[in-house]
Amino acid sequence: MIDFLFLDKNTCYLCKENPISHHFLCKKCLKKLDYVANKFDINDISAHAIYYYNEEMKKLVADYKFNRNTSLAKVFASMIFDYGKVNDLFSCDYILPSPSSKKVLNKRGFDHIKMITDYFIDQIEPNYLENFRKISETKAQHKLNNEERSYNLKGAFSLDCDLKDKSILIIDDIITTGNTVKEIGKVLKEKNAREVKALAITSEHRLS
Ligand SMILES: [Zn+2]
Repeated sequence: MIDFLFLDKNTCYLCKENPISHHFLCKKCLKKLDYVANKFDINDISAHAIYYYNEEMKKLVADYKFNRNTSLAKVFASMIFDYGKVNDLFSCDYILPSPSSKKVLNKRGFDHIKMITDYFIDQIEPNYLENFRKISETKAQHKLNNEERSYNLKGAFSLDCDLKDKSILIIDDIITTGNTVKEIGKVLKEKNAREVKALAITSEHRLS
């Protein structure tokens, strides 16, 4: 009910004070975000991160994922949609929202990346890549060191179809070490995918 009231007033989804300027956020909140539009390679995957993972972005992501402020899915959807359009990332065959395991889904109560992509999947050409699953329960990546992170994800994902000549765009919230994207990309390439790209809302790496 509270959500409904403030949405109705057209106020910023983050501070809930000022009028919306862009991405359902006010000018003041937008200014605190660090737009970097970074492009980098993770093995043979070309990856994009829209914002630097600064304090404000940390708050935004945590509010969404851990406080379950699901109205923020719309904010992230708007950011990804705009960026993907401008950088022509949606001219691919499939979109793959980075999957969560069953345990995480049950605990969180919603599929946090798919909830974002659901907002714009009907407005773009590619469909979802179905049946890509996270099959094993892994430890939270941020609690592990680099070597453990890579090992933690080995064999974590599975897909039961052939992707010959297909191109896939992986969508995720944060790219840190890139291990998740690397491991998903490996499974896609094993299924003969021609090209894999990745787009994340934010990254800890700052290239510009
Ligand atoms: Zn605001």
